[in-house]
Amino acid sequence: MPSSPQSNSASRAAPTGKLSPMLAQYQRIKAEHPDVLLMFRMGDFYEMFGEDAKVASELLEITLTSRPAGGAERTPLCGVPYHALDRYLAKLIALGLRVAVCEQIEDPKLAKGIVKRAVTRVVTPGTLLEDGMLEARVNNYLAVAHCAVPHAKEGAAATATEGGEPRFGLAVADISTGEFGVTQLTGLSCLAEEVGRLTPAELLLSGDAFDTEAVKPHVRGRVDRLEEDPFPARDSAAQLCDHFGTTSLRGFGCEGLPLAIEAAAGLLRYLRAHQEAAARHLRTLSTWSTEDHMALDANTRRHLELVQATGAGPTARSLLQVLDRSVTAMGGRALRRWVLLPLLNLEEIHRRQEAVEEFVSGALLRGDVRDGLRRVSDVERLTTRASTGVCSPRDLGQLRASLRVVPDVVETLAEARSAPLVWLREGLDPLPELAETLERALVDEPPLNLRDGGVIREGFSAELDELRDAAAGGKAGIARLEAEERERTGIPNLKVGFNSVFGYYIEVSKSNVSRVPADYHRKQTTANGERYLTPKLKEFEAAVLGAEERAGQLEATLFEALRSEVAGYSPRLLALAGGLANLDALAALAEAASANGYTRPLVDEGGVMEITGGRHPVVEQAALEPFVPNDLLLGPDDQRLLVITGPNMAGKSTFLRQTALITLMAQIGSFVPATSARIGRVDRIFTRVGAHDDLAGGQSTFMVEMNEAANILNNATDQSLVILDEIGRGTSTFDGLSIAWAIVEFLAQLGAKTLFATHYHQLNDLERQLPGVKNFRVLVKEQGHRIVWLRKIAPGGTDKSYGIQVARLAGLPESVVDRAREVLADLEATGRARRPGKVSERTEQVQLTFFEAETHPVVDALKALDVETLTPLEALTTLAALQRLVKG
Ligand code: ADP
Ligand code: MG
Repeated sequence: MPSSPQSNSASRAAPTGKLSPMLAQYQRIKAEHPDVLLMFRMGDFYEMFGEDAKVASELLEITLTSRPAGGAERTPLCGVPYHALDRYLAKLIALGLRVAVCEQIEDPKLAKGIVKRAVTRVVTPGTLLEDGMLEARVNNYLAVAHCAVPHAKEGAAATATEGGEPRFGLAVADISTGEFGVTQLTGLSCLAEEVGRLTPAELLLSGDAFDTEAVKPHVRGRVDRLEEDPFPARDSAAQLCDHFGTTSLRGFGCEGLPLAIEAAAGLLRYLRAHQEAAARHLRTLSTWSTEDHMALDANTRRHLELVQATGAGPTARSLLQVLDRSVTAMGGRALRRWVLLPLLNLEEIHRRQEAVEEFVSGALLRGDVRDGLRRVSDVERLTTRASTGVCSPRDLGQLRASLRVVPDVVETLAEARSAPLVWLREGLDPLPELAETLERALVDEPPLNLRDGGVIREGFSAELDELRDAAAGGKAGIARLEAEERERTGIPNLKVGFNSVFGYYIEVSKSNVSRVPADYHRKQTTANGERYLTPKLKEFEAAVLGAEERAGQLEATLFEALRSEVAGYSPRLLALAGGLANLDALAALAEAASANGYTRPLVDEGGVMEITGGRHPVVEQAALEPFVPNDLLLGPDDQRLLVITGPNMAGKSTFLRQTALITLMAQIGSFVPATSARIGRVDRIFTRVGAHDDLAGGQSTFMVEMNEAANILNNATDQSLVILDEIGRGTSTFDGLSIAWAIVEFLAQLGAKTLFATHYHQLNDLERQLPGVKNFRVLVKEQGHRIVWLRKIAPGGTDKSYGIQVARLAGLPESVVDRAREVLADLEATGRARRPGKVSERTEQVQLTFFEAETHPVVDALKALDVETLTPLEALTTLAALQRLVKG
């Protein structure tokens, strides 16, 4: 940042030149942070001035005042009390602002002239550390997307069609946990998927410009350009090596990924500028590949309600809510990552399954481990706070309590037999040296504020103990003095008291004032009596206060040393935190499995999905009616695409989603809601819910629906699971039917494992025409005009849409329902025979049907004409009359 404009801006603000030194200091600091809100610590308040004050007072709903700003000028002013900083910061950040926090960096009592101040951090949505501003079970990511467009035109935004697909380096850090990762990927949709999975709090863009529409909705906080430093690209690697103290990036796995390197370096530079300590805390970098995991597009995440339920009400729950039985925030965050990032590697899947299995069968082991983990705090975030210097004595107390638990957990796990649990146990490092230091150094219940004192345990520092003794000795002396003075003056209720204004004093009640000796100096008159000082009392006081003050200073120094010792352990602490998180997440899956009656699925390469007694993990919990389990066989060559028909409300959508959820659960290593399941691993799960069936995204237009269908058709492979629910409903019947028809044909040829729920029973004809297509329906029982839902999926098609019965159930007036039944009978009588054959043929027939169904007077007149007997003139006049009729 340039330093010369400082004086300019100060003089601009105060042409008279009589700016107070404090405001001059403010102007200087503000000039260094022109684009962010500056909160300026003054005593017990953080103050804002000028434009900042106007903005903040409005957003925070606090009073705006003003103060003299040199000469006759005044500057707007508002402020918030220091202890409420977090609350106000959270509000400003949530509103999308960035805030620079300027602290007093020397003790005001020791300051000569104006107190030194400096900005200690710039808070942005992606750089939060405070517990109160973070969601415990959700990672808070800062992300940088560095874009390179092949042959990009100057200034042109990248699109997929222009000069090839854009490529990206994507760097992501959660400074509250120390996680830092990079990847490199190709194509906007791939970037959108990753950003959507991570839902960063802040996304910064660098490199070539690109169209951000696809990623913006996935960012919780701010999207902005990374302020560009003139920074030669090749120096990025050097900068990263320098940061990590390595000679190359080989150990991080990103050596050959230039875009990833630039993104990571950009992220570090941003952090340095905003929160130096947080940048230092990022001690390692991992490279992830989008090919190692199952990609889930935003629609699929949303339709399957993986981490967020779309409906309202108490029964609306996400899959994560059903599965998350974790007892630590770290475990909760891990499980959330797992749900959003299913595995592709069978070995990894089997490892998790094996651990879950041991926890399921070993209920005692599971219970003991979970009991232990319940006493563990958020070691990840505690470590970060220690490393970045914002931790409290209580934080370190919690860290100590957590470390105490680790040996117990290790001991509990001694019974574990499965390889993954043994491996996890061996990785749990109880950090005995650190645990021992914290044990010796901290009192049993450390206070929240260092300033309150009483942080360091007796016996830890001889010097501190002496000072405390001296203070205590002084206090004992004062107590003795009180007794002696009572004796000497003969005043029985003479008392020594203390206040912060003039320290220790002797208090004598009104009635005894006459007996006060001459060597007492009167200091204050109160309602009940008089307060006095004596030289002897002041001597003791000096001993007490001096010792107390020095003890406080020493305690602060000792605490700081302790904190930095903890920081030194941060790589080991973070590794421990990772182990505890995994352990908790695995035990949580086991807990969910045993509470909900899940079974271990066989996950293999086979490409066949065979589920018996499958259930929807979320719907079955809602318990509106007993859940009816269903079987599914999908994947053998003769049964790869199921067309599922059945009346509205029968359970089609539920069946589709449960299949997708069971597959996903299997691939995160979880047990599944079924009596048995064999899941041929899938490379991706795609879902699309037709516009009219998409309750939450009800504003979906047909265009959006088709865009999403296009995405599926362009990206699905024969290893994908595709779930299409009522696709083609967003347009007229015949359009929709034709589109649905063509999509089924395409997917059947592709060989993707597909479930296609539709109310177009005409699609049942495809079974006879295409190999691999099979019809299924949801069984219902008709009782008179009523429907009984059986919720059972069975082979075979349907030829009724049951819409009228459902309309009746929904309470449509009886007369309307009856009339609808009449009309339907009419339509069926004329249209029945004309089921579609081949696609093109079918379209013609459909249009013909439509024409015939009309009872237009012209049609009637034409039918009635006897052409044989018509004279040419009659023919002409009839034609003219018919034309008039048509023209109305
Ligand atoms: P469709 O898609 O055929 O219109 P849904 O799948 O939306 O029907 O199901 C409607 C409702 O029926 C669901 O909200 C659920 O409460 C209930 N339901 C669906 N399947 C089952 C089942 N197998 N067992 C019990 N209830 C079910
Ligand atoms: Mg449905």
